[in-house]
Amino acid sequence: MEKDKRNTFLYCFSFFYPQGDVMEERSKKKKIPFDRDLFASQMRRIKEHPCFSERACHLFGRMHLAVAPKCNIQCNYCIRDFDCVNESRPGVCSRVLKPEEAVFYVRKAIKDFPYIKVIAIAGPGEPLYNEETFETLELMKENFPHQMKCLSTNGLLLPEKARELNDLNVGNLTVTVNSVDPKIGAKIYSFVNYHGKILKGEEGAKVLMEKQLEGIKKAMEYDMIVKVNTVYIPGINDKHIIEVAKRVKELGVYMQNLIPLIPQYKFEDIEPPTPEDVEKKQEELGEVLKQMTHCRRCRADAIGRLGHDVQDQI
Ligand code: SF4
Ligand code: SF4
Repeated sequence: MEKDKRNTFLYCFSFFYPQGDVMEERSKKKKIPFDRDLFASQMRRIKEHPCFSERACHLFGRMHLAVAPKCNIQCNYCIRDFDCVNESRPGVCSRVLKPEEAVFYVRKAIKDFPYIKVIAIAGPGEPLYNEETFETLELMKENFPHQMKCLSTNGLLLPEKARELNDLNVGNLTVTVNSVDPKIGAKIYSFVNYHGKILKGEEGAKVLMEKQLEGIKKAMEYDMIVKVNTVYIPGINDKHIIEVAKRVKELGVYMQNLIPLIPQYKFEDIEPPTPEDVEKKQEELGEVLKQMTHCRRCRADAIGRLGHDVQDQI
């Protein structure tokens, strides 16, 4: 499409959906001819996903499938008995579902609550470290081809799994990036288990960080819409989060979700940020990268609109 026609098209879209300019920027950055179908698909993955669009959160719902119990890293703010803190509220244990059970639940949920547009896997551990994640996504692709597929990850295995995720129609991705400096990362992670090798301190943090950034880059090549979660840990990464925002913005990340620390495990003595601190930090970060400000810290088995969960009714 010629540039001026493309801009008119984008303008019309962005009139209704202001995120259009971000897509245009991404298209320019990649120096690719404008692709109308891709654009429409990306817009849908923003405007109908309750986490990627604040407007959508009033209209559409998501369904988290808790099929992934194991994790391959240890964050110092996470107690493994609970859901992944990166994406969910701690203290709420989920029943881990088997992939075949998930099909039954999704069928029932979208029949009873047709506004559910997104099927997501967000834990309770690290989705990419659990084979059940891929079995579940395969079943979802087969049985529910029109529902959007979304996944949250710590990113360690993302470079090697991005292609498979794309083949399984995962179009929205969240990667938790707490640091882009191994010195700071070493304070956040107790260990990183990379293909059976236990890496600690800066060595582990460096591998994790490199894989996260490489994985995001790969996800962008597959035109996924990527959100980055960052846990705001006073005294540890608070002054550094802006560097995270700058680095991931360069890679084409769509938005950042700042998650205030819940003090537990090795960080139980850290005073968590106040709502005012979070707001101030979001303002600062918003100068660099679009911020998500409507996150509800959902359980790994949450179903429904954000803040209006219906899992008890299924
Ligand atoms: Fe816990 Fe999630 Fe970190 Fe794994 S990635 S240790 S489940 S917070
Ligand atoms: Fe969306 Fe936040 Fe809930 Fe994840 S935890 S589904 S980003 S609202």
